[in-house]
Amino acid sequence: MNVWNKSVLPERFGMTEQNVPLLQVENLVKSYPAEEGGFLAGLLGGSGQRIPALNGISFTLNEGETLGLIGESGSGKSALARIIAGQEKPDKGRAYFRGKLLTAMGESEIRSLSPHLRYLEEDALTGLTNDPKNRVDRLLFDLAEKYPPQGGGSVREAGMRLLTRVGLNEIYLNRFPNQLSGGERQRLALARALLLRPRLIVADEPVSNLDLTTRTSMLNLMKQIGHESKIAFIFISHDPSMVRYFAGEGRIAILFAGRFMEEIPAREVFNKATHPYTKTLLEVNSAPSPLPGGALDPDMAFTEMERVDSNTLPLDTLENELSDEGNVAASAQLAAARRQGCPFYRWCPEKFDRCTEVTPQLLPVTRRLDEGQYVPLAQEEIDPTHRAACLRYIDQ
Ligand code: SF4
Repeated sequence: MNVWNKSVLPERFGMTEQNVPLLQVENLVKSYPAEEGGFLAGLLGGSGQRIPALNGISFTLNEGETLGLIGESGSGKSALARIIAGQEKPDKGRAYFRGKLLTAMGESEIRSLSPHLRYLEEDALTGLTNDPKNRVDRLLFDLAEKYPPQGGGSVREAGMRLLTRVGLNEIYLNRFPNQLSGGERQRLALARALLLRPRLIVADEPVSNLDLTTRTSMLNLMKQIGHESKIAFIFISHDPSMVRYFAGEGRIAILFAGRFMEEIPAREVFNKATHPYTKTLLEVNSAPSPLPGGALDPDMAFTEMERVDSNTLPLDTLENELSDEGNVAASAQLAAARRQGCPFYRWCPEKFDRCTEVTPQLLPVTRRLDEGQYVPLAQEEIDPTHRAACLRYIDQ
């Protein structure tokens, strides 16, 4: 099936197949139901309660571009990955893939995108064992037969070449995915994703389960084939250094509480990041994190005084409980969804009064708050692609 049928393109006003962005994401909102009878549902006030995951994400990605996404556990990064990969629907908002409304597609239409849009999950086994009878050879060659390599050539040769490049060989062909180690499964998943030379790969922590040496070779392989075939990537990780390395000349977005806190050229992230959350994250990640999977101190999440002031005990109780468990991200998600103001307020070393009143939008960094006044940055300091959601840098 030709999903680029001229009769359905373009869906967006004024766009043609030539100038339409590869991916256009508009104001995505997503929440998940709290488990019936579970801890969260009880604290939130009974059944039917929902836990927020994304709070209005918008961005554009062009052909061949890389967007690195840095986010801690619970920041919403996997929810975003699954929506873009067509695995889930948002509650609100839209995503267009090459002008087609991805978020309105049914299962068969999503399947027809497979050669063009690939999803590489952290746990490769999930994507490899839909049919437990599938051995490695079938997983690789069926895919290549269904979508023959561009430019012709032998399907088997293309498959074997790629298998070798990811560090596997013909010995693996007769094995089932559950007979492979975590690293071997990840390599196979990578080979399957790259084999079709897709337009976009959404890679969610794709090398986290690999040892350091294999991780580096996998990253380099993805970068190299991506460059050769002009594949766009959304590369997601909790590790800023890895995202910086992979994103190269692309962009990086920093996700917190289901929102983009900052978007910045990857080459600038370590020396020009302005958002206090980004700076905290980078500082903590320069050394092993003192918290399990997190950069922030849960003790700073909520104070007794705030509980009394806010007069929303069930929510605060929940947030405190989550925070006590070290689950700062869930705490921040709830605060961001239910309260005005900056979601990072509680942890921010640079906060001021207005930060609890106004929810900052992601806007270009053109000024800086200095002794109560916004001072314009010098022209050479301004990069229109550098945006931050912080009231110290945007006059909102
Ligand atoms: S808006 Fe305020 S609280 Fe939020 S990051 Fe900026 S300074 Fe900190």
